Amino acid sequence: MTDPLNHSYYAATAHERQLRSDIGDERCDVAVIGGGFTGLSAALACAERGFSVILIELKTVGFGASGRNGGQLIPGLRWTASELEEEFGSERANALFNLCWRENRVKARIAKHGIACDLKAGHLEAAWTPKDFDAMRREADYLAARFGYESDVVAKTDMDAHIATPLYHGGVHDPQGGHFHPLNYAIGLAKAAERAGVRIREDERVWLIDSSSADPVELMTEWSIISARYVIDATDSWIGDVEPDLGRYTVPIMNYNIATAPLANADALLPGDAAVADSRFVLNYFRLSADKRLIFGGGERYSQTPPRDIAAFVRPFMAEVFPEIADAKIDYGWGGAVAVTMNRLPHIGRRGNVFYAHGFSGHGALVTTLAGELIAEAMAGTAERFDVLANLPSKPFPGGKWLRQPLATLGLLYYAMKDKLG
Ligand SMILES: Cc1cc2nc3c(=O)[nH]c(=O)nc-3n(C[C@H](O)[C@H](O)[C@H](O)COP(=O)(O)OP(=O)(O)OC[C@H]3O[C@@H](n4cnc5c(N)ncnc54)[C@H](O)[C@@H]3O)c2cc1C
Repeated sequence: MTDPLNHSYYAATAHERQLRSDIGDERCDVAVIGGGFTGLSAALACAERGFSVILIELKTVGFGASGRNGGQLIPGLRWTASELEEEFGSERANALFNLCWRENRVKARIAKHGIACDLKAGHLEAAWTPKDFDAMRREADYLAARFGYESDVVAKTDMDAHIATPLYHGGVHDPQGGHFHPLNYAIGLAKAAERAGVRIREDERVWLIDSSSADPVELMTEWSIISARYVIDATDSWIGDVEPDLGRYTVPIMNYNIATAPLANADALLPGDAAVADSRFVLNYFRLSADKRLIFGGGERYSQTPPRDIAAFVRPFMAEVFPEIADAKIDYGWGGAVAVTMNRLPHIGRRGNVFYAHGFSGHGALVTTLAGELIAEAMAGTAERFDVLANLPSKPFPGGKWLRQPLATLGLLYYAMKDKLG
């Protein structure tokens, strides 16, 4: 049976790839669990540094959030740079800014490996309320004055240069942001990793990490035992299956996307061809595909059960933004789990010889590639930049295994309600 959550435009337009399965015990320097952006980037960067690397993926590369997301490349983290500075002081804010805003490692990887993934420049944050617009404008001014980071503040009256809807109260256009075909990026990274010597084993589940003897760490997979000097756990919303203790730091929130049939008026809807995300707590985000479909994400569900009809679930959000295509044909509808932390900052770190990075909280398309590379850098002995992210604070969700999700859901419902009330 086909997976109803994976009826995606991306899967239908994915570059050719071969399932790579191997069975048997093996030894290597680095074993990576998970073939999303984080794991693939870490594996590639480790191989480039001369480590022997095996990557084990439950299904196929890009099967998780990395192959299903909105494809929006948004510089930074879920916190604004001014919030980071207020909380952590100027030195740490500088370091975070240099990594998370300045370093566009996705663009660098695409250029280096010639990855064909429909990369486009430009991201627009659209203000849902006048108050949101004021905050955005202040932040843009702060970024320009403090870091020389240039973006364009777009008044409500000028929004039609970017988007054909009167719904928003202005916005900020960031030319350093952009959008891409995330699954083809993941496949491109996997091919680059293989060329660099990484052995990818797909369709294989890791059950357990045994780090009782520090070196080697042993991974029990469903077929074999992999012994490695270092392990990288890049399983994101599945992390609790492999390491229950780390699973306490995130909850999975289901999020859904649709892709319309190619639209004759696509360029009129989004004349600037930027990716757009609005400022609602349960946000709408959308962009055009290379073949002029509208790819639209909207509406979260706090239940893990997908809606019976994903297209019907997302369509009203799209219709509110673009009433003229309310009845457009929808060719694809899919969904995935966004791993969200308590404070919406990623949870990155190291326990002995096991590294981990997860919980990018819906803001991972850009920073996961960086995180993977910083893990490789730390493993090779230079942990300074890795520590900038690893030192971000994090707390487990309260409530233990059974109450964690319901309690987090209550909190999220509260904010979603505030959104509705304005
Ligand atoms: C619907 C949706 C829309 C999103 N939109 C955006 C967006 O527009 N912009 C943005 O910045 N972010 C977005 N995100 C978030 C972003 O996609 C993620 O932060 C990012 O892809 C996480 O990458 P990852 O490699 O850490 O995890 P994943 O891509 O989830 O990879 C984890 C991998 O681990 C594998 N795995 C799990 N368990 C095991 C096991 N036991 N053994 C072996 N392998 C295992 C899984 O199969 C999976 O392939 C979105 C997420 C979703 C779900």
